[in-house]
Amino acid sequence: MKEEYQAIIVGGGAMGVGLFYHLAHEGWTDILLIEKGELTSGSTWHAAGLVPHFIGSLNMAKVHAAAPKLYTELEEETGLSAGWHPTGAIRLALSDSEVDWFRYVNGMLNLVGVESHLISPNEILDHHPLLDVSDVKLGFWTPNDGWSDPSSSTNAMAKGARQLGAEVARHTLVTDMNLLPDGKWEVVTDKGSVIAEHVVNAAGCYAPQLGEMVGYEVPIVSVIHQYLVTEAIPEVAKLDFDLPVIRDPRASCYYRREIDGLIVGPYEREGAELYGVDGIDWDLHFYLTPPNHDVLLPWLELAAKRIPVFAEAGIHTTVSGPITHTPDSGYLMGPAPGLKNYWVCAGASIGVTQGPGAGKYLAQWMVHGQTEINVAEMDPRR
Ligand SMILES: Cc1cc2nc3c(=O)[nH]c(=O)nc-3n(C[C@H](O)[C@H](O)[C@H](O)COP(=O)(O)OP(=O)(O)OC[C@H]3O[C@@H](n4cnc5c(N)ncnc54)[C@H](O)[C@@H]3O)c2cc1C
Repeated sequence: MKEEYQAIIVGGGAMGVGLFYHLAHEGWTDILLIEKGELTSGSTWHAAGLVPHFIGSLNMAKVHAAAPKLYTELEEETGLSAGWHPTGAIRLALSDSEVDWFRYVNGMLNLVGVESHLISPNEILDHHPLLDVSDVKLGFWTPNDGWSDPSSSTNAMAKGARQLGAEVARHTLVTDMNLLPDGKWEVVTDKGSVIAEHVVNAAGCYAPQLGEMVGYEVPIVSVIHQYLVTEAIPEVAKLDFDLPVIRDPRASCYYRREIDGLIVGPYEREGAELYGVDGIDWDLHFYLTPPNHDVLLPWLELAAKRIPVFAEAGIHTTVSGPITHTPDSGYLMGPAPGLKNYWVCAGASIGVTQGPGAGKYLAQWMVHGQTEINVAEMDPRR
C-alpha cells in the first residue's frame, strides 16, 4: 500500500471489482481496492451466478449485456477462467400480459443487439426436456445467457486490473474516512491511513455502515435469499447437454443444472427475512445465514410441479445469504449526494450480472465526467 492513490475502492465483490477492472482499462491505474477479507468473501462467492439479459429497461439491458461479453473475454486477457457457462436461458410466460411483456422486451433487446427469440412450448422442451410446460404460453429464449462461477469471474476481473498496475489490499478493514481541507479523502484502515482523490463505496451489505463514516445514509437494506442444490438426479445425469437456465414466474423460481443435479432458487413472496439492519459484524467472511426451508415450501411445491423429477430429489445443500436491495430495486452507481469525489457502486440485487456493466459506466463517469448511456435510473441522487 502506497501513501496516496488517485482512487480507492472499498469492497472486493462483483461490484467493486467490476469497477476496479474498468477504471484500470479507462486509464486510471494508480488505484487501490481495499477488501477486509478475501475478494468475493461478502455476498459474491455464494451467488448462483446467473447472468440474464432479460430486463425491462433499455439502459439496464446495456448494463446486463456487458457481463456475458466480459466473462467470455476474460480468460484470453488474463489467463484465468471466468467460470462462464453459456447455457442460454428461457423465461416462461404463463399469461397474456406476460406474452405482451415478452414482446416488448424482445423488441428492446433487438435494439441493444442482444439475441432473443419467442419460442413455443414444444421448442422449450427441445432445450429442456424435464419441464412440465402444460400451462406455458411462450418462452423467452436468450441463447447467449448463462452463469458464471462468481469467484472465478471476480478474480479474473481483478487480475485484469492488476496486470495494468492497479493494486489490491486484502485483509484490510476500512475503519473511517475523512474529508481533508485540500478536498482529498483520508481512508483510515487497521493497517494505517491512505490518501485518495476519489473514494468509492462498494461495500455491499456494509455500504450503509461505510456511508455512516461520512454522514451519508445509504438507502440499502439486505434481505436473505436461498437456493437449494439437489443430489444427483438420474434423469439430469443422463442428459449429455447443458440445460438452459429457466425462470418460472408461477413458482417464483430459477432453475439451473449443477453437475448431475439442479439448483432451485425460489424468491418467496411472504416472510422474507431482513439482514443486518442494526449493523453487521465486520469480522464475517464467507458467511452463510442459517437455512429456513419453511418460507420456501409453497414455492418448492410449485417448482416440483414444473420439474417433476425435482419432487423426488434429495437436497444436498441450502445456500442462504444476504442480497442488497434499494427502495426502487435499482443499484446505486454514481456520486453520493453532496460529497465531492465520493462515489457509490453498491445496492445490486444481481451483482454478478450487473458488476461488469456498472463498473464500465461508472469508470466512464469518474474518468471522463460522462457516460455513453443514460444512467439516471442508477444515479444515487435519484
Ligand atoms: C443465495 C444468493 C444467490 C445469488 N444469486 C445470484 C445470481 O444468480 N446472479 C447474480 O447476478 N447475483 C446473485 N446474487 C446476488 C449477488 O451475490 C450480489 O448482488 C453481489 O454479490 C453483490 O456484490 P457486491 O460487490 O455489491 O457485494 P459483496 O460481494 O458483498 O462485496 C462487498 C465487499 O466489501 C467488503 N467490505 C465491506 N466493508 C468493508 C470495509 N469497511 N473495509 C474493507 N472491505 C469492506 C466486504 O468484505 C465484501 O467482500 C445472489 C445472492 C445470494 C445471497
